[in-house]
Amino acid sequence: MEKAVILKRGKEESLQRFHPWIFSGAIQRIEGKPEEGDVVTVYTNDHKFIARGHVQVGSIAVRVLTFNDEPIDQTFWNRRIATAYDLRERTGISSREDNNTYRLVHGEGDNLPGLIVDIYGDTAVMQAHSVGMHVCRMEIAKAMQEVLGDKLKNIYYKSDTTLPYKADINKDNGYLLGGNAGNISTEYGLKFHIDWLRGQKTGFFVDQRENRSLLEKYAKGRKLLNMFCYTGGFSIYALRGGAEIVHSVDSSSKAIDLTNANVEINFPGDARHTAYAEDAFDFLDRMGNNYNLIILDPPAFAKHRDSLRNALIGYRRLNAKAIEKIQPGGILFTFSCSQVVSKENFRTAVFTAAAMAKRNVRILHQLTQPADHPVSIYHPEGEYLKGLVLYVE
Ligand code: SAH
Repeated sequence: MEKAVILKRGKEESLQRFHPWIFSGAIQRIEGKPEEGDVVTVYTNDHKFIARGHVQVGSIAVRVLTFNDEPIDQTFWNRRIATAYDLRERTGISSREDNNTYRLVHGEGDNLPGLIVDIYGDTAVMQAHSVGMHVCRMEIAKAMQEVLGDKLKNIYYKSDTTLPYKADINKDNGYLLGGNAGNISTEYGLKFHIDWLRGQKTGFFVDQRENRSLLEKYAKGRKLLNMFCYTGGFSIYALRGGAEIVHSVDSSSKAIDLTNANVEINFPGDARHTAYAEDAFDFLDRMGNNYNLIILDPPAFAKHRDSLRNALIGYRRLNAKAIEKIQPGGILFTFSCSQVVSKENFRTAVFTAAAMAKRNVRILHQLTQPADHPVSIYHPEGEYLKGLVLYVE
């Protein structure tokens, strides 16, 4: 019997608009006893084909792979990865001389819900967020080799923290190809140590590339504070941009070690930079008011909708502290990477923070994620990174 999901009457509407998720409440019945991670065919209540995708236990029951009646086989994966690579070629990010760091697959934005792939030189780091992508990891790895050829020497699979906690599968991390941990990658001419074995996410926050590049243009002669610096991305661009001093802060001492190492390979012995392993809120409380460029790039304060309220209080507090202490004429780069915090939510939180700090604030730029993190127009939830560049009088 075919593994199939039959929808309740009328529940195909969002799929007709190419939304890639089917919630468990939309399902009338499941046939053929699929296991978690299997490919299922989705039918409307009157038995018309509507989609094919990966089934999973949870509120998102099916993640759609295709709206065409086609098999999910090696040819399918080859085609999808080729399409994703083609987009990076067309936007130019994968073929620049001065850059070999980019996102090859951005989940729903590449019609591959549940899959993330970042490229660091000749290494691809792959993360499955769904059991279905975990099941298909070898086919996906093969497709990447097919598409990237000699450019790809290693594929590291890293899904122990991203797969559903309860799923009954072997979640071990490991190399699917190669095994070389030579891990220096280049972003717009700057070098970064990428620790995909122990680092956060795939080892680097590729999504801030264009925003780091914008920061570089504002850095000249400024006294800069990079809060939540992780491996120092913004700091390294600021040093190249001619900042007078750069202070980097992160609560993780491992992140601070990597920041120092990244300063060292780009600007050896540069006395303009100092890094502090310290809580950001404590640092903001104790620091003086010497900075005239501050970056706030905290981790997602809200992972789920029920923590939205507290997250907004967090953004408000954090931004108020920075706006209060920044020098007149200062520039603030402030971000939220919480998917459940909308652009409007975030802007309201920052607006309230400005009012609390009693400073006159203007918006210079509204920032988001770059083109290698595309957002499907049918899946606006994919737009998770929001940023504002503010001028504080
Ligand atoms: N701006 C970075 C990415 C930031 S990720 C880049 O461009 O690469 C968020 C960072 O915040 C993580 O490195 C995490 O260790 C750090 N962090 C989390 N909570 C913190 C806190 N309370 N104080 C300081 N840093 C914190």
